[in-house]
Amino acid sequence: MLINLSDVLSEQHKTIIKDCMPDMDEFHCEFGSFPISEKKGAHIVVEHVKGRELMIRGTADITITIPCDRCLKDVPTRFELDFVKNVDLDESDEARVDELDEKNYIDGYHLDVDKLLYNEILIGWPTKVLCSDDCKGICSVCGQNLNEGTCDCEDTSLDPRMSVIRDVFKNFKEV
Ligand SMILES: [Zn+2]
Ligand SMILES: [Zn+2]
Repeated sequence: MLINLSDVLSEQHKTIIKDCMPDMDEFHCEFGSFPISEKKGAHIVVEHVKGRELMIRGTADITITIPCDRCLKDVPTRFELDFVKNVDLDESDEARVDELDEKNYIDGYHLDVDKLLYNEILIGWPTKVLCSDDCKGICSVCGQNLNEGTCDCEDTSLDPRMSVIRDVFKNFKEV
C-alpha cells in the first residue's frame, strides 16, 4: 500500500491519517519464509515538521508463525509495532541508503507502508524463538518431540564423538 505524501507537503500541510491492511501474507527474510497468521490494520499518521521534513508515526499488530528453535513446532510470534520516523525528502536517495535505518520505504513522494512495516518487523526479529522456555527439543536420533513423549534412544546430549565409541563397543558385543 502506497501513501501519497504530497498532501502533507502542500501549503495546507495536511496531516495524513491512514488505516490500512498490510498486503503481505508471508514474511521473507534471510532466515527463511514465514507465514503471517494474523494481521490487524496498520495505523499510519504522517505530519509535516518543517521544510520538507515529515514525521511518520505508526502502529501495527502482526503475528508471524516461526518454528521453535528446538522442536520446530509452529510458534505464533506477535509483533506489536509502534514507531516514529523522521524523513527529510530533500535528502538524496544515496544519503538515505547510507543511513543505518535504510529508508527504502520512501519512493519519490510515496510512502510504501509494507516496506516500512517489513523493516520494523526485521528490527524486532527475535534472536530466539521457543514454544516454551523449557522446550525439551527433539531427539536427534529418532526425531521424537520430547515435549510430547520420551523415546528409547540413548542420551544423545553426550559428545557426538562418544556415540561413535559407544557404537564400536556395541559391535564388539555383537561379535
Ligand atoms: Zn519447542
Ligand atoms: Zn529418540
